[in-house]
Amino acid sequence: MYEGVRSPLIYTPRSIGEFATIIARHPQAIVWAGGTYLISRGDYYPAEAKDGIIDLAYMEDLKRITRNDRYVEIGAMVTARQLLSAGRLLLPPILQETLRSMGTQIVRRQVTIGGSLCISDTRYSLSTTLATLAASAEVKFYDEGKVTTHWIPIAKLYDNKGRLNVGEKRILLTRIRIGLEFGDLQRFTLFGDPIRKSRECGIVALHAKRDQNSLSKAQFCITFPGKAFHISKDLESKLSGSALPIHPERVNALSYELVAELTKMHSTISDLQLERARRIFESFLHDLNSQSLS
Ligand SMILES: Cc1cc2nc3c(=O)[nH]c(=O)nc-3n(C[C@H](O)[C@H](O)[C@H](O)COP(=O)(O)OP(=O)(O)OC[C@H]3O[C@@H](n4cnc5c(N)ncnc54)[C@H](O)[C@@H]3O)c2cc1C
Repeated sequence: MYEGVRSPLIYTPRSIGEFATIIARHPQAIVWAGGTYLISRGDYYPAEAKDGIIDLAYMEDLKRITRNDRYVEIGAMVTARQLLSAGRLLLPPILQETLRSMGTQIVRRQVTIGGSLCISDTRYSLSTTLATLAASAEVKFYDEGKVTTHWIPIAKLYDNKGRLNVGEKRILLTRIRIGLEFGDLQRFTLFGDPIRKSRECGIVALHAKRDQNSLSKAQFCITFPGKAFHISKDLESKLSGSALPIHPERVNALSYELVAELTKMHSTISDLQLERARRIFESFLHDLNSQSLS
């Protein structure tokens, strides 16, 4: 079956400069991080690797975790497992929970931060949580020998279906930055199996800051893999500044506003997915209320 098929060439840059030279010469090459997503594509090998593979495994610059008083920066080649063990005292609980939810220990040892954020066509939990935490990513764009670098909020890296929003240009995501000032109220919920039954799954990340008896800030992101990546600026601004506790009727009304928005913007979400997301959102608001009363 593979008669006449040659192994693809594998390039192993050691620096961002070497990566730029290689991608300029081989613009169609496949960028390879942990390989867990690429290898799961039925047709990845050998048909797609015509221009070779660029393996990021030797780029030490992409494996660093650094911090200062205001934020932590995490290289694209840091794995989920490394981040979990290095960031135990540092990272917001919602992010630790997200990392723990990503497959098995073996998978987490392999999956990289950059690989999780750069799948072209669908979103899973890491993008959802990082968007909620207002994290941003450093992305290098390679276009006919020219390189430009941009810091992009993760919430803006994708379209509303969850597809990577970078046009035709080749990119290298080098690191992400997460602010260390986060709210005390955080929730991450994953229902269903994101890999085996992604069409029935849903991921909800919510994050709120309380200021005495009101919400000073509320952010959330809801993802239905392959269908939607939803951030509601409208609901976020309705919630931010709300006095606590929020009246139960208003909680109910807000949760149905969310359903109305999701239905209007994403026709493929099933009724069951919608109802589960609504209940998670509603229960988060009820929990906010009970915490404000305690
Ligand atoms: C069993 C299993 C369970 C999983 N569960 C979850 C889960 O619960 N939540 C979740 O979020 N994910 C989950 N994942 C999915 C995982 O996030 C993806 O497989 C992810 O792509 C893994 O990263 P990787 O390093 O293996 O990427 P790769 O497979 O190497 O690459 C993925 C894509 O990103 C591109 N890419 C990689 N690095 C970069 C970079 N630095 N710059 C630009 N492009 C890049 C590659 O070209 C490719 O298109 C699971 C995976 C498996 C196998």
